Amino acid sequence: MVDGATILVVEDNPDNMYVLDHLLTRKGYTVRQAGHGEAALEQLREFTPSLVLMDMQMPGMDGYTVVRQLRQQPELATLPIIAVTASSMPGDREQTLAAGCTDYVAKPINPRELLKLVEYYLEGGSRGEDSDR
Ligand code: MN
Repeated sequence: MVDGATILVVEDNPDNMYVLDHLLTRKGYTVRQAGHGEAALEQLREFTPSLVLMDMQMPGMDGYTVVRQLRQQPELATLPIIAVTASSMPGDREQTLAAGCTDYVAKPINPRELLKLVEYYLEGGSRGEDSDR
């Protein structure tokens, strides 16, 4: 647990949002919610979270577009972004990383795996340092 961390969760599915919010809030994190890509970019103009969980599959502006756009802002260049994707097809991980995401988890979410990853990046970890990743 990293004190005072605020996590922006971008997810269009209300059930998934509920589960992620509950999981992170119970761990003591402050959660901000964005239900679509435009809302995420709007919130990121007003505050910089400690970390972003980004659903990549959303109607309208998808996660790939949101991440590419926000990475163009210098102050968001190093913000940890964990992609959440619906499938784990070969190549998914590479695509999310190419778009600018820091790391990747596949649905269905494994709570322990997700929380471990969140904590790792909140503590300043970077991809490749952990032999598990
Ligand atoms: Mn979705």
